[in-house]
Amino acid sequence: MKFEEYNISPEVKKSLEDQGFKKPTDIQYKAIPNILNGEDVLAIAQTGTGKTAAFAIPILHKMTMLYRVKGVKAVVMVPTHELAIQITEVFHELGKYTQVKTLGVFGGVEQEPQIKKLKQGVDIVIATPGRLFDLVSQGYLVLSGIQILVLDEADLMLDLGFYKDIRDLLRFLPRYRQTLFFSATINEKIKKLAYSIVRNPIRIQISPKDPVSKNVTHSVMNVSMDDKRYFLERLVKENPDKKILVFVRTKVRAERVFQAMERVGIKSLTMHSGKEQQDRLQVMTDFKNGVFKLLIATDVSSRGVDIPNVEYVVNYDLPDVAENYVHRVGRTGRGTKRGIAISFCSEEEKPLLKDIEVFMDKKVDVSDIENAEYEAILATTEELNTNWKQLMRDAEFEASNRKKKKK
Ligand code: ADP
Ligand code: MG
Repeated sequence: MKFEEYNISPEVKKSLEDQGFKKPTDIQYKAIPNILNGEDVLAIAQTGTGKTAAFAIPILHKMTMLYRVKGVKAVVMVPTHELAIQITEVFHELGKYTQVKTLGVFGGVEQEPQIKKLKQGVDIVIATPGRLFDLVSQGYLVLSGIQILVLDEADLMLDLGFYKDIRDLLRFLPRYRQTLFFSATINEKIKKLAYSIVRNPIRIQISPKDPVSKNVTHSVMNVSMDDKRYFLERLVKENPDKKILVFVRTKVRAERVFQAMERVGIKSLTMHSGKEQQDRLQVMTDFKNGVFKLLIATDVSSRGVDIPNVEYVVNYDLPDVAENYVHRVGRTGRGTKRGIAISFCSEEEKPLLKDIEVFMDKKVDVSDIENAEYEAILATTEELNTNWKQLMRDAEFEASNRKKKKK
């Protein structure tokens, strides 16, 4: 079934056509009719399969009939600023021929402009819980008219770090509403929690056997901790035109890898929670536009981020939360594109790999490299070579000094 045959507003159809979206993806095909029917939905579908439009299309359609009703009527909660911005853009794009107003509400930036927009009238809010809570408690945002609540990356939103915020916010929402959960991963505990905050029985949609998107070819490579940077250097130099997204465990590691790359003449960007919001925005724009082709990030970028044409994902460090493996490798192979993910696994990270395999209920392919090739990679690194040359120069300098002294 094509979008043109759907019973949705012509304005939304027109923008779908502009986007080049002709047919719904599986999750869109399954979720849209239920959402249009007003049912609560728990939708689990692999990364990059169009979950955003799966809720944006029916919500925008509903709002085309409701935009004359004053106040915020739908709220989408997301875990990061970047996701709030990205999803707001999708709503703007798909809603551009409608009268429906969507606003992104997230922290790290001044709240005044957001308040001003709210006063002018907003139908849909895409929010991170912290800022949403601030605006609600100051009375700038009223949630009592909410008809639809969406938790994107639902398992993370209902997990420890966010759960309290979400619970606090739920108190402000009407009990009779439609609630939608979307994610690529979920576990039994979180599923129970999700059921506990909704009224209707939830419809579970797509739950694939393999949580990693079929568009992603992924494998691990055994690399010792100290050699990882040489392997990354090699990958980057062999693929000068490719966009590469590298995940590391901490922000300190992100900066270290950045410096290691700089030493061998590779320019990159870093992305982590220690950066100012303005810088984070700039980084995302530069990486999106391909001004820089290498981004070194922590897990703040593992969830939901939709950057076009990321050809490689590198797990420079294995994630310590197993489901993040699925989210990280899911930053490539999005929509109809294919992608490659490679994980550098050191001896001490083997238990993490095991956790990941248990979580996915699947082994990860091992990309075998011969000893000779491993050595060859170390032999070609510019860092060791330049260090070597530098050592030679130092030695020569010292030798000539000694000679001078003797004279
Ligand atoms: P998810 O949330 O499932 O990880 P997104 O909603 O971010 O995935 O979408 C992934 C990509 O697929 C986006 O770049 C989006 O533009 C594209 N996409 C979404 N729906 C369709 C469709 N029906 N046809 C073609 N491409 C689509
Ligand atoms: Mg998503």
